[in-house]
Formats: sequence, structure tokens, C-alpha cells
Amino acid sequence: MNGRGLIVTGGSRGIGAATARRAARDGWQVVVNYHGNAAAAEAVVQAIADSGGDAIAVQGDVAREADVLALFDRAEAAFGPVGGLVNNAGILDRAAPLSEISSARWQRVLQVNATGSFLAAREAVRRMTAAATGGVIVNLSSMAAPLGAANEFVDYAASKGAVESMTIGLAREVGRAGIRVNAVRPGLIDTDIHGDAGIPDRARALAASVPLGRAGSAAEVAEAIVWLLSDAASYVTGAILPVSGGR
Ligand code: NAP
Repeated sequence: MNGRGLIVTGGSRGIGAATARRAARDGWQVVVNYHGNAAAAEAVVQAIADSGGDAIAVQGDVAREADVLALFDRAEAAFGPVGGLVNNAGILDRAAPLSEISSARWQRVLQVNATGSFLAAREAVRRMTAAATGGVIVNLSSMAAPLGAANEFVDYAASKGAVESMTIGLAREVGRAGIRVNAVRPGLIDTDIHGDAGIPDRARALAASVPLGRAGSAAEVAEAIVWLLSDAASYVTGAILPVSGGR
């Protein structure tokens, strides 16, 4: 029996917040990790509590190893063994060609998106293995990984490529320990991440290029994540699931 404690990194807004709320409806006790926006994280916790669920908010930078270890300690103290991890925290910088990307920017994007996902996945596996509970990990990739994000975010695309390779390799390592590891590849999803890239209307502006003819919502990505977390996906591991409207 897996623990019902679920850590959602970057749960204060966007896809992470939608996932935290949707997972609570399935009975997960949710740790809403955030980086800078405590008020937004507390609002997610309050919304879950108002619906009869359990949640706490925990600050932490996933790029910092000590923060990730402390996040898992707080989760275990609140809800017992961690049964699920959603590696959702991710960042994007301003749209630019690779020739204009600084090494500091490259390192920060890789540090948060790839190293942060590695640190949290490693901690989840260590603890799920030690407790012999098994568990489930869902990583957030992006359609940028296969498409490359030319002239916009090649650094971001590369970080998501790393997340995908880690997903496949880790799934093969830990299957026998009863741990499933999968990833979702969102396409154009209407969240505030695009504002950070200086293109707040990006998802809607590019909607016509999507086969389904529109941007997706955070709630639609959350549905796929929560399915992968659930026992309904009990034979699914090492999978990369596009949630992209066919993009
Ligand atoms: P978002 O709205 O920008 O939210 C990002 C979340 O990550 C926030 O809760 C933020 O916390 C948190 N965060 C940022 N840096 C962090 C750090 N160092 N440590 C811990 N938390 C951190 O993003 P989103 O659009 O929902 O995207 C969520 C995930 O889906 C990301 O991995 C993204 O790459 C991926 N994705 C998104 C799209 C899309 O079109 N939106 C497409 C493909 C993939 P604070 O606000 O508290 O700082």
C-alpha cells in the first residue's frame, strides 16, 4: 500500500496548482511546494481544505539539495510516507536564440528544471525504497523536448530532454521496487509561465497551429497527471504522454 502523501513541486500556480487541487479530490494528502509566492500556495491549500482535503504549503527551491531534503522531511512529518511526487516546478527565460543565451541563464534553467527534478526524484526513490512502500513519480516534460524551441528557449528544451531521459532510465531502475515513473509532455498551455518569457498571450496567439485549434488548460494537464498517479495506470511506467492537442 502506497502512502497517500503527495509532493507537488511548484504547486502555487498553473499546472502545479491545478494538479494539487485535482489530486486532493482523489484522496492524496498534498504538499504544495512553492518558491516565492507564499500567498498563492496558501490559497491552494485553503481551496483544498474547503473541499474537505488535506494539504500544507512548504517553501523550497528545488534547485537546492538542502531544500529538497527538507521538503520531504516536512511531507513525512505531516502525512507519513510519501507515496507520490509530481516534479512540476519549472522555469522559462525570455525568448531568445541560442547565440544570445548566457551561461548563467543556461545553468539556472538546467538547475531548476533538470537538476531539481533529479534531486526530488532521487529523494522520492530513496524514501519509497527504504519504507518498502513503492510509489509513483510524474515528471513534467514539454513538447519543447522533441520540437527544440528554436529561436525561443533551446535551453528550456534541453532541460526537458534531460527530464525525459531520466524518466525512461529511472523507470527501468525502480520498477521492481514497485515505483512507477512517467512524464507528461504539455503543449501550449494557458498559464502565467508565458509572461515570464515576455509573451503573456503566447498560448492563445499560437492556438491556430494546434491540431485541436486551441491552447490547453492547466486543469486538462492535471487530469493526465492524476491519472498517471492513480492505480488506473498501474501497468504504465517509463511512458512519455503528450498532452498537447496534437501539436
Ligand atoms: P508557472 O505557471 O510558471 O508555475 C511555475 C511554478 O513553479 C510556480 O508555482 C513557481 O513557484 C514554481 N517554481 C519556479 N521555480 C521554482 C523553484 N526553483 N523551486 C520550486 N518551485 C519553483 O508554470 P506552468 O505553466 O504551470 O508549468 C508547470 C510545468 O509544466 C513546468 O515544468 C513547465 O516547464 C511545464 N510546461 C508548461 C507548459 C505551458 O505551456 N504552460 C508547456 C509545457 C510544459 P512560485 O510562483 O511560488 O515562485
